[in-house]
Amino acid sequence: MLCCNITVSLLISFPPTIVQLYQPVRNQDWCIPFTVTGNPRPDLHWYHEGKLLEEQQYIRTEIHEITDTEYHGCLQLDIPTHIHNGIYTLVASNEFGEDRGNVSAHFMHIPDVDHSGTGGLGFSCITLKFFLKYGRSSKFGMKGSSSVISNEDDSASPLHHVSNGNNTPSSSEMGPDAVIIGMTKIPVIENPQYFRNPGSMLKSDTFVQHIKRHNILLKRELGEGAFGKVFLAECYNLSPDQEKILVAVKTLKEASESGRADFHREAELLTNLQHEHIVKFYGVCVESDPLIMVFEYMKHGDLNKFLRAHGPDAVLMADGQQSLQVELTQPQMLHIAQQIAAGMVYLASQHFVHRDLATRNCLVGENLLVKIGDFGMSRDVYSTDYYRVGGHTMLPIRWMPPESIMYRRFTTESDVWSLGVVLWEIFTYGKQPWYQLSNNEVIECITQGRVLQRPRTCPKEVYDLMLGCWQREPYMRLNIKEIHNLLQSLAKASPVYLDILG
Ligand code: AMP
Repeated sequence: MLCCNITVSLLISFPPTIVQLYQPVRNQDWCIPFTVTGNPRPDLHWYHEGKLLEEQQYIRTEIHEITDTEYHGCLQLDIPTHIHNGIYTLVASNEFGEDRGNVSAHFMHIPDVDHSGTGGLGFSCITLKFFLKYGRSSKFGMKGSSSVISNEDDSASPLHHVSNGNNTPSSSEMGPDAVIIGMTKIPVIENPQYFRNPGSMLKSDTFVQHIKRHNILLKRELGEGAFGKVFLAECYNLSPDQEKILVAVKTLKEASESGRADFHREAELLTNLQHEHIVKFYGVCVESDPLIMVFEYMKHGDLNKFLRAHGPDAVLMADGQQSLQVELTQPQMLHIAQQIAAGMVYLASQHFVHRDLATRNCLVGENLLVKIGDFGMSRDVYSTDYYRVGGHTMLPIRWMPPESIMYRRFTTESDVWSLGVVLWEIFTYGKQPWYQLSNNEVIECITQGRVLQRPRTCPKEVYDLMLGCWQREPYMRLNIKEIHNLLQSLAKASPVYLDILG
């Protein structure tokens, strides 16, 4: 008798069933886990508080495992805040039917109601009140103000204070007032007075070079800065071995008496800052209005624009049109990071606290040479990077550590935090930190101890470095020299091919 085995594969179609739907759990971010069955594969849609959820980069459905007709996955949420709390409804459907399931999610407490008796102010108002009170005479990023050192409370002034290195507020420094964030009453202190070391940055015998106006020939506008326009120019008789060189000139329009004084102090300070990774300052031209500062010209402009121009989006958009548009490689990113860290080691050695380190304030020259090029003046084009408080004060909160946000305390350690954010910017091709959050949410996240996520292209060693910069306690953060050494050895281990970027 003839015997045979026949295997028959049956394809059974059936409507979807949500087998499991759990409350959010933390994986690298947040995940609402689910298991769904169905054949054909069900389409999945989510509703948040009854409203269809538009999936995007930071809220997305991910399927991690498929077994036969069972789909295991997550609604993945990157850095959710209180606005993401609520009921999530999963709808699974195919041509044979649909199933729905609800789950409640709580990621973050709702910003606190007013505890100060002023009538139901939310967190943002309390925060604003705090900044209004303590930011009253600050000049951070104030248009037309180039204050270097002021007799007022200059704790929020953008420029170069010499730190006394004392990061810990003594009880006598604590004012009677407090900010209430959540249930926490935080004593507010005025920023510790940064003493000015006359022997360091502001030497009495500083010789600022004066350049004659007829030696400056403007060529074209490069951009608009906080103080006025920036031009590309030719400068004659500046160096003995070259008749003319290209320079960037920054103009200061309609300077008041105090504005002019600030301008001169800043020029002295810039004259004393000399390092291969700090943009070179040549001198001033003050014969008539506008006042002018002359800097070395950095061919590729600011680093943020440069990173975006060499990121995947720009490369995609330039497809076929601009064949020279190339995506930055990891070794190139390390090379950039290492140079900024070198500049910061120098600034720290001069007891100079930058307060506004960000890629928008770095410049890129030929052969991927990067220098710190701007000392904390906000820009119109980057106005969304700053949080305006109390009228004029603009704070780069996305780059600031908790103690700078809460107490406006700026130190070399707070610069280290910002350097960590700069690394994150580099490895995301110039994304805005916490781009998915509003300013108030950013303040909330940072003060609650959250940190930015590891960018997709970022090696673990570099992310560990970032985490070392983002330790909550300033003294726990990596030292700037350690950061530089680490970046240098990582950069050395992966050589850079510069020619493609010219
Ligand atoms: P800032 O006043 O520094 O905010 O500069 C405004 C614009 O001018 C920015 O977009 C920079 O790209 C450009 N810029 C500033 N300084 C230089 C420089 N030294 N070399 C080339 N471009 C510069």
